[in-house]
Amino acid sequence: MSHVPPITTETLQTSAAAQTLAAIRERVLAATAGGTPLDIQGGNTKRWYGETPSGEPLDMRAYRGIVSYDPAELVITARAGTPLAEIEAALAERGQMLPFEPPHFGPGATLGGCIAAGLAGPRRPHVGAPRDFVLGAVVMNGQGQVLHFGGQVMKNVAGYDVSRVLAGALGTLGVLLELSIKVLPCPVAEATLRFALPQAQAIGQLNRWGGQPLPLMGSAWHDGVLSVRLGGAAAAIDAARATMGGHQVDAIEALGFWESLREQTHPFFATAPVQGDGQPLWRLSVPPTTPPLAHGDEHLIEWGGAQRWWITPRPAAEIRAIAAAAGGHATLFRHGNKSAGAASVFTPQPAALQAIGERLQQAFDPSRIFNRHRLYR
Ligand SMILES: Cc1cc2nc3c(=O)[nH]c(=O)nc-3n(C[C@H](O)[C@H](O)[C@H](O)COP(=O)(O)OP(=O)(O)OC[C@H]3O[C@@H](n4cnc5c(N)ncnc54)[C@H](O)[C@@H]3O)c2cc1C
Repeated sequence: MSHVPPITTETLQTSAAAQTLAAIRERVLAATAGGTPLDIQGGNTKRWYGETPSGEPLDMRAYRGIVSYDPAELVITARAGTPLAEIEAALAERGQMLPFEPPHFGPGATLGGCIAAGLAGPRRPHVGAPRDFVLGAVVMNGQGQVLHFGGQVMKNVAGYDVSRVLAGALGTLGVLLELSIKVLPCPVAEATLRFALPQAQAIGQLNRWGGQPLPLMGSAWHDGVLSVRLGGAAAAIDAARATMGGHQVDAIEALGFWESLREQTHPFFATAPVQGDGQPLWRLSVPPTTPPLAHGDEHLIEWGGAQRWWITPRPAAEIRAIAAAAGGHATLFRHGNKSAGAASVFTPQPAALQAIGERLQQAFDPSRIFNRHRLYR
């Protein structure tokens, strides 16, 4: 009598995943053969980010599920269509988190969309960006081949670290299928301190604190108020509070505040809607010591002074010149009804970087079927 293995939930999930993968491959091969671009979609929560999407939708939500999670090794591997909320819930059960605090921008956010967009929340200057936590990736290229990059540990990287280039590429290189992400324990204790300070003084103070061994986990200045989040061991937070001073914010209010920055639900962002009438929202990435950029417009500062949100109708060329003069660059983060005119979303790259990008593109997707023109028109 032959032994028939029992059908487990895992077997069923795996076979469903295998079927989904085969369907994705078919779509990719047909798209390449016909030269018809694909518009890779997760939860569609960040559709407004980057240049206007085009192509036939390739819905990735069916390719989902946590493949493995090893809390002791601080690594989680999941299929790209897995809801971000499901991943965060699994991590929270074990007192762990995605260190870069990714914005969801909607309830349907997926892991693939999170890594493809490469966006990070308030912790970013203190722990790192999404690309710093991508240990490995499984990707489908334009020929329908399934490619494996990296792995599940930090130390196995030899040669060109492709899994990290995928973070922030907005799906232009290939279909993200599976990602291994390094996770971290949640801080034991947190505290948020507030200080009444004008912009220039707040920037100066943030930079002084940035050079000290303080357990900083986020900072934001808006409308004369500087908020600073501390996170770590209780003793370290007590010591920091004693040297920094300020007014401690109620824990629930603080939680809501940092989330409102991460998700851009804070009232500052209200006049720069994702769609429809409103002013453009610019994200300036600059050296943290950069003095206040311009008077008379609404600003919100994060990341120790390195990230300046700016809501303004000023022409794109003027904003990009201001960012460049400061040694940084400017992204048209939300453009609503495209009132910023013909401006490109991302700062045009120097020729040398552009050449590297084109070679990568040529290797992954020579027919340019994936998210065509989403990064550059
Ligand atoms: C603590 C700290 C200190 C800093 N010090 C300095 C400094 O001394 N000097 C300085 O110049 N900057 C400084 N910065 C700014 C820093 O250089 C940028 O934040 C960093 O380079 C990451 O920039 P980023 O826009 O890629 O941001 P990220 O949040 O890492 O990137 C956002 C996403 O947008 C994508 N993206 C950004 N620009 C483009 C583009 N043109 N085309 C396509 N995709 C794009 C990225 O790939 C990424 O996925 C500092 C930042 C921090 C947090």
